Amino acid sequence: MQLLEDRIRRDGKVKEGNVLKVDSFLNHQMDVRLFREIGKEFKRRFAGEEINKILTIEASGIGIACVTAEEFDVPVVFAKKTQTKNIAGDVYTTKVESFTHGRVYDIIVSREFLGEGDKVLIIDDFLANGKALEGLAELVKLSGAELVGAGIVIEKGFQIGGDLIRAKGIHLESLAIVESMNDQTGEIVFR
Ligand code: 5GP
Repeated sequence: MQLLEDRIRRDGKVKEGNVLKVDSFLNHQMDVRLFREIGKEFKRRFAGEEINKILTIEASGIGIACVTAEEFDVPVVFAKKTQTKNIAGDVYTTKVESFTHGRVYDIIVSREFLGEGDKVLIIDDFLANGKALEGLAELVKLSGAELVGAGIVIEKGFQIGGDLIRAKGIHLESLAIVESMNDQTGEIVFR
């Protein structure tokens, strides 16, 4: 998606440790006009698919998921991150290892909002090693719902997540795939 790549090139900041900061339009301050274009692009890429629910993860997936949900005219459910040890039985839960924070946390979704008969599109901001996406896919599986696909705003193509998810046969659509980035020069190359 050209508009998105241009924006990442203009405003993205390459940090040490393979981290791309896009705080000025995606992860902290949010450019809702750009979000709308992203939502339309996801709608185009998953056209013809039957989708009745969008699943994302707090916090930075929520904004993107909401504008995308408006395009599909379906509700959004976001998985909550929790450190609670004793999780009640009315939720689906799995563990996710965080790329940016380097620790493991539980994610949960209430049984009330995901279940058999649901056709789910997962939406998230970044795909790196694929742990967040795998966790969300696991929640869909636990619930008995059907996973239709996953839409990612920025995939870091030099990390394993994309290959991992595609190898599972999941329909993955990434709107911008970063092939390489250099924290010294700030250069970002797209696939
Ligand atoms: P994964 O589980 O695929 O390794 O990482 C995905 C999650 O980590 C995303 O939901 C995102 O919050 C965060 N993340 C991974 N890499 C980056 C990055 O380069 N920049 C930012 N801003 N977030 C990232």
